[in-house]
Amino acid sequence: MNIVLFGPPGVGKGTQSALLVERLNMLQISTGDLLRKAIAAGSELGKQAKGFMDAGALVPDQLVINLVAQEIKSAGGRSVILDGFPRNVQQAGALSEMVQGLGQKIDRAIFLVIDEALLFKRLTGRRVCEKCGATFNLETQPPKKADQCDRCGSALVQRKDDKAEVIGSRLKAYKDSTLPLHEYFQKKGILAEVDADGPVEEVFSRLRKFV
Ligand code: AMP
Repeated sequence: MNIVLFGPPGVGKGTQSALLVERLNMLQISTGDLLRKAIAAGSELGKQAKGFMDAGALVPDQLVINLVAQEIKSAGGRSVILDGFPRNVQQAGALSEMVQGLGQKIDRAIFLVIDEALLFKRLTGRRVCEKCGATFNLETQPPKKADQCDRCGSALVQRKDDKAEVIGSRLKAYKDSTLPLHEYFQKKGILAEVDADGPVEEVFSRLRKFV
């Protein structure tokens, strides 16, 4: 079963995807994570993507489409969660062609719904591990020791694009480009909506009903 997880930045897509990976052995394809890795590795893709990401803008479609195409091919038919892709209708069209070409389909697109007022707080409170990528939140999921990763003990940092001054641009990109996917997937008859407000486990049990 292949699913798309979408919703505004900070809604908890990464957190819920990690639980699907851990409990259902699905494969997560997170374009945000892949792009951050490319930046950390200093690759050509990373160099091309960095300016857009730091500004809270979407990275050009062709870059992310190529990235996802490679990942889906190497998934070898394992159930996939697409986290952060597609981000607009053009990418959704490319995804549809990609999976069809492999004799597969997107079974469900799950829209995580949240009150916009909660997003700002969630995004500014997010801290990520520099080394293993684990995610925490100062409000909702604090690490056991301040500024230290529970999983590997490395330092926790704030993502550049989680700073207050960039969040507005990310929310605008979401509204202009990503929100139209709601109608797109609804018309395809594969849309499900999940209330993303509440403790992580509660949200997961709501989500689980559609996976
Ligand atoms: P995320 O980790 O999903 O919040 O993504 C962080 C940033 O990576 C976004 O603000 C974009 O700059 C970039 N990004 C991630 N996924 C995509 C995508 N599918 N299309 C374009 N840009 C993306």
